[in-house]
Amino acid sequence: MPEGEQKEERKFVKIRNSKSSFIKIKCPDCSSEQVTFVKASSVVNCSVCGAKLAIPTGGNIAIAGEVTGEI
Ligand SMILES: [Zn+2]
Repeated sequence: MPEGEQKEERKFVKIRNSKSSFIKIKCPDCSSEQVTFVKASSVVNCSVCGAKLAIPTGGNIAIAGEVTGEI
């Protein structure tokens, strides 16, 4: 398998337990931070570059970036 080709195939990881209702996600593409609702029911896109940061799962969202904080 050739490496180095990563397009759209981003892995989304579901948030397991968050003490807060809102979290900060760091965009993997442009490193900007975005605040989102943990149980958001729609896709969250980066407000800067438009990358898909989180997808709804019915419960807590699954995110592609890194959680950098809770609010
Ligand atoms: Zn971005």
